[in-house]
Amino acid sequence: MAHHDVTLFGDPVAASRLGARFAALDPAALLRLAIEHLYAGRIALVSSFGADSAVLLHMVAAIDPATPVIFVDTQQLFPETLAYRDELVARLGLSHVITALPDAGVLAAEDPEAFLWSSDPDRCCDIRKSAPLAATLHHFDAWITGRKRFQSSVRASLPLFETEGDRVKINPLAGFDATRLLDYIRTHDLPPHPLVAKNYPSIGCLPCTSPVRPGEDQRAGRWRGRGKVECGIHLGTLQAGADI
Ligand code: SF4
Repeated sequence: MAHHDVTLFGDPVAASRLGARFAALDPAALLRLAIEHLYAGRIALVSSFGADSAVLLHMVAAIDPATPVIFVDTQQLFPETLAYRDELVARLGLSHVITALPDAGVLAAEDPEAFLWSSDPDRCCDIRKSAPLAATLHHFDAWITGRKRFQSSVRASLPLFETEGDRVKINPLAGFDATRLLDYIRTHDLPPHPLVAKNYPSIGCLPCTSPVRPGEDQRAGRWRGRGKVECGIHLGTLQAGADI
């Protein structure tokens, strides 16, 4: 398939058409198509190495363990997440993990005490997540996310393909539910994130993640009581700040 066929140039209608065209594919087949054909050499998986991350990482590793995997280390993560990342990287043989870090100068100027999450979580996510990811994604035309529709009401209508400026965002697991995730994890004997057993079905930064109660959305423990539901990575076009 030619390059121009799948470069969407920010056209959401084209993204929707692409989603409809490939809707019948299962996630592994869609990933293979994207990695080997649609965006070969121009695509990365962005993974938090969180609760369900092993599923997508396993699918990608089975296609090509050298696929670039971007890990945004906000430097506010749970130590369990860092250990889990190391475990999965070794277990799956991932050979091209790129760690996106916040700019040290920006942190020194704006968050020297590492407490910005308390006073201005949006700005904290900007400088610790969105800006480092935007700077790293600059090298790619497409990226893969692990978002799923069942995770929250905000994600209930998540499409398979999205546009983000000139870049394409693919959500192969959009239609997966908790049962299918569990089945996949059991079938492939994938290790769980150690915090899942402690009622953390969605795991972000340590100061901004709490356990969830029965009946709550999977992401109810993220920024609990702060009126914030997403970090900004998925709320429009990522812009690398001038200070990166
Ligand atoms: S999740 Fe919290 S600590 Fe992490 S970048 Fe966002 S506001 Fe900062």
